[in-house]
Amino acid sequence: MNKQHGRLFVISGCSGVGKGTLLGLLLKQHPELKLSISATTRAPRPGEKDGINYFFIDRQEFLKEVDNGEFLEWAEFNGNCYGTKKAWVEKMLSNGENLILEIETNGALQIKQKLPESVLIFILPPSIEELEHRLRGRNTEDEAAIQGRLHEVRREIECSKQYDYRIVNDSLERALGELESIIFG
Ligand code: ADP
Ligand code: 5GP
Repeated sequence: MNKQHGRLFVISGCSGVGKGTLLGLLLKQHPELKLSISATTRAPRPGEKDGINYFFIDRQEFLKEVDNGEFLEWAEFNGNCYGTKKAWVEKMLSNGENLILEIETNGALQIKQKLPESVLIFILPPSIEELEHRLRGRNTEDEAAIQGRLHEVRREIECSKQYDYRIVNDSLERALGELESIIFG
């Protein structure tokens, strides 16, 4: 008997908009959803663990994996490389699992080209001021990294017009409800 193919949901949003917070709540309530763990050349933040938050690898290893065709998509963001492992996604989808990728816009558009049935969801801030406030309040980046991330905001919001859905993360509860209704119908 053929198992039904899983569905792929791609979530993007500006740094500090609340993607991690929203996805944490979503996965807690729906543990059957599987979150992809990306590879990155970024240094771990305090508390982040290899194999849990990301696979932390150096640039040389990352580029070797790119050459070997191991990524379904990859992109450079604010000076670091990030990529999604192709083998994991293919295996999970063919097992009928529903997957979540939390990736930036260039990678998301690569996924849409390769897998047109994937669903692209962009999380918007209520305002740029509130976004900067959340990013600073999180206290995880130095000033240069904050400026770099804010610099990407306008380009990303422009890109989000190509997404299937856009959700404003004003109230967490409301935004979570909207996300659930997109995923579960
Ligand atoms: P991202 O993963 O998009 O970079 P985070 O999930 O780390 O963002 O959230 C950034 C900060 O904003 C965190 O301190 C988080 O607690 C806060 N935050 C997230 N969603 C909301 C919301 N709806 N209202 C107010 N603060 C929020
Ligand atoms: P952060 O450094 O804040 O963890 O992530 C920075 C950006 O990289 C975020 O927009 C995040 O969604 C994105 N990102 C994380 N993993 C991947 C990935 O595998 N591919 C791509 N293209 N972007 C990713």
